[in-house]
Amino acid sequence: MPKEPLIRSEDQQDTYREERLVWSLRPRTLAEYIGQLAVAESLSVAITAARKRGEPLEHILLHSPPGLGKTTLAHIIATEMQTKITHTSGPALEKPVDIVGILSNLETGEILFIDEIHRLSHTVEEYLYSAMEDFEVSFIYGKGAFAKTLPYQLKRFTLIGATTRAGLLTPPLRDRFGMTYHLDYYSSEELVQVVNRSASILGVRIEEEAGALEIAMRSRGTPRVANRLLRRVRDYAEVKREGKITQEIADEALTREGVDKNGLDRLDSLYLRTIIDNYRGGPVGIEALAATLNEETTTLIDVVEPFLLKMGFIIRTPAGRKIGDAARAHLTSEQQRLL
Ligand code: ADP
Repeated sequence: MPKEPLIRSEDQQDTYREERLVWSLRPRTLAEYIGQLAVAESLSVAITAARKRGEPLEHILLHSPPGLGKTTLAHIIATEMQTKITHTSGPALEKPVDIVGILSNLETGEILFIDEIHRLSHTVEEYLYSAMEDFEVSFIYGKGAFAKTLPYQLKRFTLIGATTRAGLLTPPLRDRFGMTYHLDYYSSEELVQVVNRSASILGVRIEEEAGALEIAMRSRGTPRVANRLLRRVRDYAEVKREGKITQEIADEALTREGVDKNGLDRLDSLYLRTIIDNYRGGPVGIEALAATLNEETTTLIDVVEPFLLKMGFIIRTPAGRKIGDAARAHLTSEQQRLL
């Protein structure tokens, strides 16, 4: 749970409220975790076995596009192992000194969660190798000619790394994880469960099952998006229909938000239109596309493209990105729908 800052501006208050809301929607146990059945099953076996032996879990790598539940799962693993979790992220760890304190404070079996682990600096990554493998790090005492390196034994901890880009991890780091799991996009049925669960926590009234399905189908296969769209639809329903969510209200609210029937948002649609209109359907290199869209390359690669690839809306070729036939058909049907 995020700590409440002592002095807060309006903006900070909003961010704090939003963060609390996100935390309140997080499932706390494997039983509450919706979907990803194969991953949940495998983790449940590993957790039960580790607890029976009274041993810490092996290091775990979780990879998926953003918002599919990596952080949630890391916290669930800590709960199920009845242990503490320390949360940090790749960009926050620049030098070995940034991580040595964290590592040496970990007790046996505790979990260190490193989000965006592909963004660790090279030196920190190398420093982690022996910490992960031999539970040992080196401390440097003194300076210059008098500097001494002393080995320091760590307790047996579990590292959980999360990444949106498993391909960017170096083989030595990847090989040090005993278990690696990929989380896939959720089905509409699973997202209906996410929407209904969150609605009941937030005290939102969904009048028709079709209302939950409408939100689910437009959530890009992603629970974080489903929760965000639910909040937008709730706002709209409160203003227009005394808070009751129906399919019609969900459709109206999401269309106003610029979310189309397949869950594509404005950036997704613009991305596809740019390839069609500016590059005759491609192939086009990612750098050129990012420059035309005035977007970060990483946003396109991490957030926009995985879902479009999954839908068959784009194809990746050695020469660059090409538009898929399904995308043209989808954009035409959306145009007709909005006429
Ligand atoms: P990631 O770390 O992969 O970006 P998070 O774990 O932060 O994703 O998940 C984003 C939000 O989606 C969480 O706040 C949680 O409410 C919801 N969520 C994710 N996975 C699930 C799930 N399997 N069941 C229910 N809600 C989920």
